[in-house]
Amino acid sequence: MWLRRDLRLRDLPPLSAAASGTDSSVLVCFVLDPRLEESSGERRLAFLFDSLRELDDKLDGKLLVVRGRPEVEIPRLARAVDAERVHISQDFAPFGRRRDEAVTDELGDIPLEATGSPYLVSPGRVTKDDGEPYKVFTPYYRRWRDHGWRKPADSARAAASALDPSDIAKSRRIDIPPAPTTLSMPAGEEAARAKWAEFVDDGLADYASGRNDPAGDSTSRMSAYLKYGNIHPRTLAADLGNGEGAQAFLRELAFRDFYADVLYHWPHSLWHNWNRQFDDIDLDTDKKAYERFEAWKAGRTGYPLVDAGMRQLAETGYMHNRVRMVTASFLVKDLHLPWWWGAEWFLDQLIDGDMASNNHGWQWAAGTGTDAAPYFRVFNPEAQAKKFDPKGEYVRRWVGDIDAEDYPEPIVDHKAEREEALRRFGEI
Ligand code: FAD
Repeated sequence: MWLRRDLRLRDLPPLSAAASGTDSSVLVCFVLDPRLEESSGERRLAFLFDSLRELDDKLDGKLLVVRGRPEVEIPRLARAVDAERVHISQDFAPFGRRRDEAVTDELGDIPLEATGSPYLVSPGRVTKDDGEPYKVFTPYYRRWRDHGWRKPADSARAAASALDPSDIAKSRRIDIPPAPTTLSMPAGEEAARAKWAEFVDDGLADYASGRNDPAGDSTSRMSAYLKYGNIHPRTLAADLGNGEGAQAFLRELAFRDFYADVLYHWPHSLWHNWNRQFDDIDLDTDKKAYERFEAWKAGRTGYPLVDAGMRQLAETGYMHNRVRMVTASFLVKDLHLPWWWGAEWFLDQLIDGDMASNNHGWQWAAGTGTDAAPYFRVFNPEAQAKKFDPKGEYVRRWVGDIDAEDYPEPIVDHKAEREEALRRFGEI
């Protein structure tokens, strides 16, 4: 069982599949790929390592962790234990697909067998009648609901067949590295389940309205757990009823699936405009642009809601969804910077940093993606603050006193930059 983005033991179909073979002992392993170690922010690494540590404890020290390229390490381990097959949850992101193709090639006649994925409905499954992928969320969502999904899998018992790796790949085995930074939330399957139970009791019923209240902070906080597969969305969906809050929550899980589906069909959209008509838009990339980018990162734009979001991100590795939209819009429409600058900074800082949700969240804000907000809809950061943080609680929490002497003046004039954004759109 080769774990990747599925760091849990419950509701893990490939683990059940692995344990149900004729020889039911299962080597459970994780390959720490130096390429991912280099490209992941410290917080994501900390979350990963803590999740692995919890899993190892649950498996009584039987999780085998090695460092190296998967296409070298996985075939080596498979041969060392005479594996019949290698079980995985399918990865649909561009890097994961390339990696798994390389591993399949090197495994030769040992099959790489995928059972399930990190999604309720795997990318590629929901299509229009003519087989084409959806480009707009709402019709996708209707079909996604009709498609449906299975009940949570009963896989926890399968963990009992984990093989003791002490005598296998002795020289390759590494200790799980210490977390490179302290996290604002605990990682792992138990923490995910506890947080979810708390949300079902306290937050779900009011989620439809509560989800837009940054100060209330009453969303589920499942994003990082879903990203690392500490919990599967099936487990969440199984607890949802028909209430308004539950239905609103299910719609957000559908957004997660939708963006994974879009990235699957258009892999170029990871770092390039999904809609190539926007490739010619005039962007600022000069020295002044870099100065503005630094002010944005540091939460010193002089727009309190933007600054509060950027400071929440820098301090905790999390930002409320409403504020992610506002800060992203500000970078693109008020500062005229490339959306991928912002996306990269988010990925560096976020604990839940996820290629599909992040980069398509950014493309939505930039108006360059599927289902884009019309280009003429430019978020006004002050109006957004009035509407979604009317008492200024969120801003006070993360910025403090905006009348203080050291709080910066606005670095740009929103009204003028809005006109400028529209002018640049008009040109293309
Ligand atoms: P809840 O409101 O409780 O939502 C439940 C779950 O639904 C989330 O955990 C998430 O898995 C999913 N979800 C909710 N909203 C969205 C959405 N708009 N798109 C996709 N999935 C969604 N989400 C990430 O998981 N990783 C990211 O890197 C990420 N980057 C983003 C960047 C931008 C610019 C924007 C606008 C949104 C981004 N999102 C990202 C989506 C969303 O902001 C977060 O999923 C959400 O804030 C996480 O908090 P929560 O778990 O409490 O959310």
